[in-house]
Amino acid sequence: MPTKHPLEFACVKCGESVALSLVEGEMPSCASCGKRYTFEGTQLQKQLRQFEALCRQIQASKEIFSEAAVAVDVGPSRVRIPLKLLLTRLNSVLDLEIEGVKTTITFRVEALNEQTGKTS
Ligand SMILES: [Zn+2]
Repeated sequence: MPTKHPLEFACVKCGESVALSLVEGEMPSCASCGKRYTFEGTQLQKQLRQFEALCRQIQASKEIFSEAAVAVDVGPSRVRIPLKLLLTRLNSVLDLEIEGVKTTITFRVEALNEQTGKTS
């Protein structure tokens, strides 16, 4: 069954991939070892929500990336960097500490497509 949650991380106990739910009252748990995680009301939850929103926004705005550019002054000349280039280089991962363990949260673009039924 495909997960509805685009965020996932490696379980701090067994290392298996855990789908991260940010739904109120829902506790993410590891399907492999059964370890439960609580993020309710924590700073971590806030950061995770912001990260998910950012990743969703990047996906939602994909179409304008080819039109937009960032102008950067390098010495006497101005360089235009296409946003598309910047954002495709931006890794959709976030490093956070979960229960004292440095953990990488990964944003799965495919999970968004599963939700909307789109294949692109
Ligand atoms: Zn586990």
